[in-house]
Amino acid sequence: MTATELVNPATEEALASVELLDAAAVDDAVARAAVAQRRWARLSPWERAEGLRAFAAAVAAHTDELAALEVANSGHPIASAEWEAGHVRDVLTFYAGSPERLSGRQIPVAGGLDVTFNEPLGVVGVITPWNFPMPIASWSIGPALAAGNAVLVKPAELTPLTTIRLGELAVQAGLDADLLQVLPGKGAVVGERLVTHPGVRKVVFTGSTEVGKRVMAGAAAHVKRVTLELGGKSANIVFADCDLERAAATAPAGVFDNAGQDCCARSRILVQRSVYERFMELLEPAVRAVAVGDPASRDTEMGPLVSAEHRARVASYVPDDAPVAFRGTAPPGPGFWFPPTVLTPERTDRSVTEEIFGPVVTVLPFEDEHDAVGLANDTAYGLSGSIWTDELSRALRVSRAIESGNLSVNSHSSVRYHTPFGGFKQSGLGRELGPDAPLHFTETKNVFIAVAEEG
Ligand code: NAD
Repeated sequence: MTATELVNPATEEALASVELLDAAAVDDAVARAAVAQRRWARLSPWERAEGLRAFAAAVAAHTDELAALEVANSGHPIASAEWEAGHVRDVLTFYAGSPERLSGRQIPVAGGLDVTFNEPLGVVGVITPWNFPMPIASWSIGPALAAGNAVLVKPAELTPLTTIRLGELAVQAGLDADLLQVLPGKGAVVGERLVTHPGVRKVVFTGSTEVGKRVMAGAAAHVKRVTLELGGKSANIVFADCDLERAAATAPAGVFDNAGQDCCARSRILVQRSVYERFMELLEPAVRAVAVGDPASRDTEMGPLVSAEHRARVASYVPDDAPVAFRGTAPPGPGFWFPPTVLTPERTDRSVTEEIFGPVVTVLPFEDEHDAVGLANDTAYGLSGSIWTDELSRALRVSRAIESGNLSVNSHSSVRYHTPFGGFKQSGLGRELGPDAPLHFTETKNVFIAVAEEG
């Protein structure tokens, strides 16, 4: 068994040592989860709902602890980390309502009775990225448990601490220790074993598009179900007819939230040429005002990047001769800091075409609606995006024309647990969240019961 040494990204101080599991440990976890799943699926819907409600209550009772752990492990500002813990509680509570509502259908057929059942898949593997460990894990844990499955979660190597704690809280809340298991480990070891193990019936993978393709290929060996939540390069389209002050004032939050380490980051700002200069004048003070610093402080809006390696990757998009329009500030260090940065590159520059996953945004002018839609869609991704306009017809026309799973008009919101979330094109496959999510952890079974004719 090997271990990984975690550091606090804001201070570079040692934080914790976490044991990394091997493939044999995954096999053992799958076997135990299969037994626990059968017990769980036999419980009444009401009992499963009670289990989820108790888990949500345990999370709620430990909000401060979970938030502090995320601040230390991931460098998230404390207010964001508290929101994330609250979101997990809300997601679990929302899906606690599902077991009693999941119902099949009775379909009229000749010669008998035909009914459908939503059968749980069995053991589900969930592989999460390092950027939002708690929320992303909960998006699968809630609906998968609600539908009667067992869940094995593999958190990212860099930020496993809050997910490990969620696993402990589930046990504290009374769930079977084998029903929800957290399996820290390397992607190439634990992640791959979850993908290739025949006893894992579905994998929900959230991470890079590159690894997502590998997961999809690996899952094919057993025709394993997959949901993929992958990268993004979302557009923030600013039309001349919008409330320009509001669009500019909120644009930094649309991309620099979580230091830009957000799959929904609006990392390409597209501005109608007639208001481009005015927009840049308004954007500059908003970017310079972003409070970057100690994530434990309530005044902080942006913390550090997750690691030195990731910071070097982000910095590669801002070479010395990069077309930097203006930048915000960042502490000198220690810590993996990077200032909010605004670039005005050519349309073909790699800063425009590739996911940077850091606090770097490009701003490009566009001519008209047709040009804006073409630019927005000129990417392999299609996860999120914003449209700023005061004209309702345009808002609807452009929303329908953009190839993206989640759009907001005059807002930067992307994720609400009540509504479906997921990507077009290479941003993913399938949807999470929303009222239908438990169904994505079931198989439809159709049963026909012949009714003999009288006499
Ligand atoms: P990553 O792809 O490097 O890793 C994601 C997870 O996969 C980690 O747990 C990792 O250990 C595991 N993994 C690595 N190799 C594997 C393999 N061969 N088999 C199975 N698992 C393996 O991504 P990351 O760097 O942790 O996260 C950043 C990426 O995640 C970005 O591209 C971001 O856009 C994306 N993301 C997407 C969403 C979404 O909902 N669409 C949400 C958050 C992050």
